[in-house]
Amino acid sequence: MSEKITPFSNVVIGIDLGTTNSLVAHVRDGKPEVLNSREGQRLIPSVVSFVDDKPVVGYAAKRKKVRDAEFTVFSVKRLLGRGFEDVAVGQDVLPYEIVRGGPEGDSKNISIRVGERTYTAIEISAIILRELKASAEQALGVPVRQAVITVPAYFNDSQRQATRTAGHIAGLEVLRIINEPTAAALAYGLDRKKEGLIAVYDMGGGTFDVSILKLHDGIFEVLATNGNTTLGGDDLDQAVLKVVAQEIKESHGLDPARDIQLNAALIEAAEKMKIELSQSETAVFEVKLACLNYSRKWTRSEFQKLILPIIEKTREPCLQALRDAGLKPEDLSDVVMVGGPTRLKIVQDVARMIFGREPNTSVHPDEVVAAGAAIQADILAGNNQDLLLLDVVPLSLGLETYGGLMSPLIARNTRIPTAAREVFTTFVDRQTGVDIHVLQGEREKVEDNRSLARFKLAGIEPLPAGLPRIEVMFLIDADGILQVAAKDLRTGHEQTIEVRPSYGLSDAEVEKMLVEGQKNAEADLAYRRWVEVRNEAEPMLRNAEKKLPDAFRLLPREEAQTIEAQVLALKQGIEQKDIAQVQDAKYRLGASTVRLAELLIKEAIESAQRASNKI
Ligand code: AMP
Repeated sequence: MSEKITPFSNVVIGIDLGTTNSLVAHVRDGKPEVLNSREGQRLIPSVVSFVDDKPVVGYAAKRKKVRDAEFTVFSVKRLLGRGFEDVAVGQDVLPYEIVRGGPEGDSKNISIRVGERTYTAIEISAIILRELKASAEQALGVPVRQAVITVPAYFNDSQRQATRTAGHIAGLEVLRIINEPTAAALAYGLDRKKEGLIAVYDMGGGTFDVSILKLHDGIFEVLATNGNTTLGGDDLDQAVLKVVAQEIKESHGLDPARDIQLNAALIEAAEKMKIELSQSETAVFEVKLACLNYSRKWTRSEFQKLILPIIEKTREPCLQALRDAGLKPEDLSDVVMVGGPTRLKIVQDVARMIFGREPNTSVHPDEVVAAGAAIQADILAGNNQDLLLLDVVPLSLGLETYGGLMSPLIARNTRIPTAAREVFTTFVDRQTGVDIHVLQGEREKVEDNRSLARFKLAGIEPLPAGLPRIEVMFLIDADGILQVAAKDLRTGHEQTIEVRPSYGLSDAEVEKMLVEGQKNAEADLAYRRWVEVRNEAEPMLRNAEKKLPDAFRLLPREEAQTIEAQVLALKQGIEQKDIAQVQDAKYRLGASTVRLAELLIKEAIESAQRASNKI
């Protein structure tokens, strides 16, 4: 009999959309719990198999991985939000065929061939998410429409956006995309400590990720990430397979490498034994097939000896991540273990040796990310009033302004979501368009910052310089996606663009940009001051040069010559980038042209009067 639970309107689920397995969780009575899948399991293998074009998800699909390989897709997360060129390298680890072209014929996109049809990675992920949603609905007995989904910390914005789109296709409103290591830290309640430096050691089925998080005022910031995209629990199974296959070859004369079915059965048995050895000192590797009856007892120490070199491969990425974060192992306050293989004692031992402290393993390592996602979901559902802000803008965001300067609208470390607005104007008379150049970084010169996007706002009324009012809005949503809107306040003409500030930007690069910013702060400031002075002086120079003939016409020759000399001094000052000379010439020129300006106004009034008398 299924337990009855009181339906409530605001169910938000937490989803760990994994490469190998996915989980869905929610918080009940303040505690996160993983929900059973429709197959009655906690894990849902992230595998989709098509039977007569109809998708099957989970263990049922995983079982078809060998028999119906042509119709079965797995590890699709490796392809999510990536272009053809990005994944061409990974093609060898994925047995299915990846073809160029997405649903809109975009040649940069990719699809996966399944029999006669092709599917995008987003579509496959949506099928998995739909299964997770259905599982949660069955477990909770209420419709579910909102979710928090986790992604690896290194996911760029295109990968995050693809995850969000997949959720949308699955009928879920994705309230937030959060980093997997952040979710793991949340599940351990580390946010309650307010401050800390946390290493998250995450070994999944096929990948290893390490993230260094900084917890400050309850906000998690990713300081560095590293890892190995082809290192995980599957490699441990393969190591066992290699030993066993050799024995079988010698004793039974069978070559598993030439028999897909046998090979698959051996891998399955290897995985089973590995899992057993995480709890027992000994385990039996056993396969009972028509062609082969094989069994062999393994001790934990024998298994550990075999896999230690593989686990040791996690050491360098961990040390590199620490180096990138500018930290030493002893600076860490916590080490959190994520992923099925971290249940193995040898993996915990290696992590302890790398970080020099006892790793946190009390929350199920394969459920910890889903649990954290559920905690975040609970907060967003309004059930937990301890509002937690999880992310900040890692680098300032701004616009290019006249003279090649970066004008920041949102300062780094601002908590997201956030918005900023500023009104700009034109620098040239009768200017009908402005280039909106969105920048990221801490430097004063445009070229020292990262160019995120450019677009043109056309349709500005042709007015004298300085009169148009162009409002620029920066809006960053909870996932860090930036929307820039530029609007001519007179004509109402508007142009919007969506930018992904962290696209292709690693944490190490962010760090580098910050260091560069600090190193060059003084020179940058001097440069800004110069450009500002020049921006003021140049229009004055242009104007004075235009009026020189009038000076000689209306003023005594000597006075006109003085103006001419000051124009020359100003020009020279600008050419030589001499701030003092420019300021001085500007001041003198301003004073000596007062009379000329008065005379010109008088002349203009008189000529206007003459014209009206004629009428
Ligand atoms: P995950 O992506 O975190 O679900 O990790 C999947 C990997 O964890 C697979 O290679 C599993 O075989 C492995 N795994 C799951 N449970 C255990 C366990 N108790 N001991 C060792 N490995 C495990």
